[in-house]
Amino acid sequence: MERGLIMEQRIVKFYARESNKLALHAIPGHFATSNSHINFYIDVTGIRSRIGEAEEAARILARKLGHLNYVDTVVCMDGTEVIGAFLAKEFEKEHITSTNQHKTVYVNSPEQSRDNQIIFRDNTKNMIAGKHIVLLLATTTTGETIKRSMEGIQYYGGIIEGIGSIFSTVDSVNGIKVHSLFDAEVVTSYQAFPKADCPFCKKGMKIEAVVNGFGYSKL
Ligand SMILES: [Zn+2]
Repeated sequence: MERGLIMEQRIVKFYARESNKLALHAIPGHFATSNSHINFYIDVTGIRSRIGEAEEAARILARKLGHLNYVDTVVCMDGTEVIGAFLAKEFEKEHITSTNQHKTVYVNSPEQSRDNQIIFRDNTKNMIAGKHIVLLLATTTTGETIKRSMEGIQYYGGIIEGIGSIFSTVDSVNGIKVHSLFDAEVVTSYQAFPKADCPFCKKGMKIEAVVNGFGYSKL
């Protein structure tokens, strides 16, 4: 890693195979997630916040998810609601059937408890119970967030039809494929380590920032 440069000056851009409009920003360094230590912070802020990019990302993810028989609800984790809305539009364009009374796809970003369990209240449960769900995430590194989200959705009676993540280093979780715009092959030197087994920590290097699906906070 280059010394002396602040995080933002170390950004490396990777373009999506399917679109030169979509660039992933990766920052090399030593970062901590809730589950592991990583050697790249993967930044998808532009893709999920600029509507032109969010729309393009949704178009490609819809194609990758392939033909789904039913979609009732897109459940958005990590601040992916803008992409989620465009994804719902793609499903409607493709005339994918929704079993919803109002004949339109719901987009929901669930509340999370302090221990990161997802919660649907009485006013949102009807978007999940007995419904066909597409789960959408920003970055997937260990698959823990997907597992937790799937458990939550299934607890409330939802049926997972597909999973999309802007960046993912895992191919599948609990036997369900994770479709991504960027995978580990794009950021080839991406590595995640268990906290107790992190080579940077062993060398006594400081953690630069704590990161999660929403962003980073420098220490
Ligand atoms: Zn470490």
